[in-house]
Amino acid sequence: GAGVVVVGASVAGLHAAEALRDADYAGPVTVLDADQEPSCDRPPLSKQLLAGVWTREQTQLRDADALAGRGIDVRHGVRAVGLDIQSSTLDTSAGPLRYDGLVVATGATARDLPGAGTRPGLYTLRTQADCLALRRDLEDGAALVVVGAGFIGMEVAATARSLGAEVTVVDPLEAPMQGVLGRDAGRALQRLHAEHGVGFRLGRGVRVVHGASRVGAVELDDESVVRADAVLVGIGARPAAGWLAGAGLDVSAGLACDRYLAAAPHVVGAGDVVDWFNPRYGRRMRVEHWTNAAQQGAIAARNLLVARVDRNPADLVPYFWSDQYDVRIQFSGVAGSDVRVLPLGSATRPERRVVLSGQDGVLTSVLAVGVDQAFVRARRMLRRRTPMDEAEATVRTLLDGIE
Ligand code: FAD
Repeated sequence: GAGVVVVGASVAGLHAAEALRDADYAGPVTVLDADQEPSCDRPPLSKQLLAGVWTREQTQLRDADALAGRGIDVRHGVRAVGLDIQSSTLDTSAGPLRYDGLVVATGATARDLPGAGTRPGLYTLRTQADCLALRRDLEDGAALVVVGAGFIGMEVAATARSLGAEVTVVDPLEAPMQGVLGRDAGRALQRLHAEHGVGFRLGRGVRVVHGASRVGAVELDDESVVRADAVLVGIGARPAAGWLAGAGLDVSAGLACDRYLAAAPHVVGAGDVVDWFNPRYGRRMRVEHWTNAAQQGAIAARNLLVARVDRNPADLVPYFWSDQYDVRIQFSGVAGSDVRVLPLGSATRPERRVVLSGQDGVLTSVLAVGVDQAFVRARRMLRRRTPMDEAEATVRTLLDGIE
């Protein structure tokens, strides 16, 4: 047979390919990726690779020989450009390719700053090439403006400080990572960055990026101007699903998939590209985090192989981590309206805390800033749908034991 074709050789795609072999699938497994380079892991792009403490090899996602050894045929530099579901044919830059099963794992691409165009010194961060180019601009004393105080922007800010760059973060919101952390924890994170010398221009948007041959400054909407040798734009990502528009699939918010990650007969999706119905929460969602991509890759691939009745739903609890300086931020779940802040902070570490949230008396999310031990337990309680009061009491006891 034609075997299984996977589009996208990153976290979701490679986990899917490996899951096929783990399930003893013996047919051909072909993985295509538009990128010429072997797939890199993305979390280090704003952390270890940007800091120069890991090499390019260390950020590689998988060893090419190990994949080949499992009969996984990875082809780089091949782009999927269209899909014909009726004839089970994928259209690619290297010609048409038939499949018995197809995994769509094309991820997301970074959003550009509207109206800013492209020119040297203006960066988004999604690939190794982006990272290494940005790194070259961040020598000691260079002025970096970070546009967008989300997790990628804040990680780059922290790493750039470690390289001696002068860093200013611009965001229209009041506090960094406000969407995930809430305003108070966001402010505590801001203090941590400020202590490390990061400047903030919050409550401000970017009006224009100045500089003709390369960036020179950023003008904000209050007409103030911030000098910039480099600008890192971290304002989110959009699903890379445009190539499927002609296939008759719904790609309005990412590749629309059902609870089993199916998009069409013999077609499944996984990772950042997927907008799926998560039965755990009774609604559709798209998650742009590493663990979700890995889990969905494995579930989607297995669901291609088994009988309809044996498929597993992707009832996943979202999770992500972020590392800034020596602080790890972890979040899991979906935030509810009953928010309980359990501070652990001392005068020297005011950012440390656990924040629980719940809905209808049940724990629905856990945020931990600088507290790893309690997070593991709290995450388990999340999966078990623990009553809110019980969860709070348990975490309080755990926190009493720390310090
Ligand atoms: P992607 O990694 O986006 O890969 C998609 C692949 O598909 C790419 O290789 C692309 O070249 C290929 N492709 C796209 N279109 C086509 C096409 N038409 N034909 C062929 N190939 C195509 N998550 C965390 O949980 N914690 C972190 O600390 C963290 N840090 C991050 C830091 C950075 C700088 C970035 C960018 C992301 C970070 N993430 C983090 C998010 C995490 O990396 C992503 O969720 C993950 O990479 C998603 O994997 P994916 O396989 O779905 O898609």
